[in-house]
Amino acid sequence: MSSVVTPDRETAVLGRVPTGLFLAGRWRPAAAGGVMPVEDPSTGERIAEVADADVADARSALDAAVAAQGAWAATAPRDRGEILRRAFELVTARAEDLALLMTLEMGKALAESRAEIAYAAEFLRWFSEEAVRISGRWSVAPNGATRLLTMKQPVGPCLFITPWNFPMAMGTRKIGPAVAAGCTMVVKPASATPLSMLALAGIMAEAGLPDGVLNVVTTSRSGPVMREVLGDPRLRKLSFTGSTEVGRTLVEASAAQLLRVSMELGGNAPFIVLADADLDAAVDGAMLAKMRNMGEACTAANRFLVHESLAEEFTGRLAERMAALVVGRGVEDGVDVGPLIDAASREKVAGLVSDAVDRGATVVTGGTPVGQRGYFYAPTVLADVPPGSRVLAEEIFGPVAPVTTFGTDDEAIALANRSEFGLVCYVYTRDLSRAVHTAEALESGMVGVNQGVVSNPAAPFGGVKHSGFGREGGAEGIEEYLEVKYVGMAL
Ligand code: NAP
Repeated sequence: MSSVVTPDRETAVLGRVPTGLFLAGRWRPAAAGGVMPVEDPSTGERIAEVADADVADARSALDAAVAAQGAWAATAPRDRGEILRRAFELVTARAEDLALLMTLEMGKALAESRAEIAYAAEFLRWFSEEAVRISGRWSVAPNGATRLLTMKQPVGPCLFITPWNFPMAMGTRKIGPAVAAGCTMVVKPASATPLSMLALAGIMAEAGLPDGVLNVVTTSRSGPVMREVLGDPRLRKLSFTGSTEVGRTLVEASAAQLLRVSMELGGNAPFIVLADADLDAAVDGAMLAKMRNMGEACTAANRFLVHESLAEEFTGRLAERMAALVVGRGVEDGVDVGPLIDAASREKVAGLVSDAVDRGATVVTGGTPVGQRGYFYAPTVLADVPPGSRVLAEEIFGPVAPVTTFGTDDEAIALANRSEFGLVCYVYTRDLSRAVHTAEALESGMVGVNQGVVSNPAAPFGGVKHSGFGREGGAEGIEEYLEVKYVGMAL
C-alpha cells in the first residue's frame, strides 16, 4: 500500500518534538538521567525516547506549579483567554504535523488524528471564551438584614493524569478550563503516548503561558511518582481520565489530602436500535460509535441492542460495512483502521471474542488478528451473543461489535442499564416521545439520540456510576476548577 507520508517527513516531525520534562518553563532531562522508549504500535519499533521522571522530578513540577499559582490567579481573565486563543490558533496552524505525530505514537489513521487535533484545539477556543464569563452573585438574605455575595476563585494547583487513546484532546479538556480559571498544573500523559502532550506544552509556552503554569512529567513509574504529588498538601485538585480500576485507586489516594477530584473513567455504551428506527441512520451511527478510534474510546458502542424485527438486517449491513474497512498503518493512504495500542490490548480483545464464541456467538465478520507486525485486529461483528458473555460486560476497547436482541422498549432499557458503567448510551428511533422517555430512563451521563458521536466541547462530557464523576467541556467544565466563596455582609 502506498504511503501519503514519506519516511523523511516522519523523521522530521519526530525530530522537532521536545523530549525532556517541562518544568517551570524549561525543558530538562530527568534528574536521575532516565529515559523511556516510545513505540509505533503499527510496527512495534521504537520511534523516540523521552525523559523518565522519578519522584524528585515530580516534586519539582509541583514546586513550579505552586510558585506560579498566586501570580497566575491574579492575571486578568482576558489575558488568560488570549493565551488560550493563541494556543488554539497555533495548534490549528500546525494540525498536519501534530496529526502525524499522534498517528506515529498512537496508531490511529491520519484522518482520525486530524479530527482529534481539531477537537482538542476546540477546547482551547471554547475555554478562551469562558475565561471572561466567571461570575458570582449578589442577593439579599431572606430576613433582609444581610447581603450574600458569592465569588468564584481558582481551586489552586492541579494534577492531570491522561490516557493514551486521545493523547491531546484528553489534555486540552483539562488544561483549557484550568488555564481559564487561573489554576496552575502538573500534567502526566500516558507513557505510551507522551509526544503529543510534549508538543502541546511547547505550543502553550509559545502562546505566552507564563513559566510554571503548565508542567509536564513523563514517567514509566506512574504509581509511585504520582503518589508523591497526590500526597503533597499543596496540591488542591486531581483530574483523571483513564480506566475505572486505576481511577478507584486514585480516589483512595486523594482522600488523604481531601482533594477536589474529577474522574472520567471507563464505559460500556449500549447502542439501542428501537423497532421504528431509520436503519440507514442506525448503521451509519453504529459505524461511528463503534469504529471511531478503532473502538479504543470510552464512548465506543460496546453492546448493540437491536429490536428482534431488525436484528438480522442490521447485523448483515453492519458486517458488510465493517468488512470493507481497510486495516493498516495509520500513515498509509486509504487506511481506515490502525493497530491497537499494544500486544496486551490485542490479546484482551481476542480473549473476549473467543469467550463469546465458546458460549455460542457467531462470528459474522473478522474475529482474527491481522498482519505479522504491529497490533492489528480485524473489524469484527458477532451475532447472537448470549447473556453472560464477557464481551457484553467488559470494556472491549477494540473493533468488535457484539449484537444481541430485545422485544420491548422496557426490555432494551433494562438491558442497557444492566452495567456498572454509565458513560453514554445511543438510541435510534423516529419517535420523539420514545426518544425522550428512553433518554430519561437510561442510567448514563450522556445520551446520543439518532447520533453516533456525542463529544462536543460545548457540551458537558462525563459519566455516572463506575464511569466517574465531574464534567468536562460546556459551561459546566470550568466549574471543576473554581471554588465558590461566600461573603456575608451585615449592613
Ligand atoms: P489507564 O491504564 O487507567 O491509564 C490512564 C493514565 O493513568 C495513564 O497516564 C497511566 O500511566 C496512569 N496510571 C496508571 N496507573 C497509575 C497509578 N497507579 N497511579 C497514577 N497514574 C496511573 O487507562 P488507559 O489504558 O491509558 O486508557 C484507557 C481507559 O481510559 C479506558 O478505560 C477508557 O474508557 C478510559 N477513558 C475514559 C474517558 C472518559 O472521558 N470517561 C476518556 C478516554 C479514556 P501509564 O501510561 O504510565 O500507565
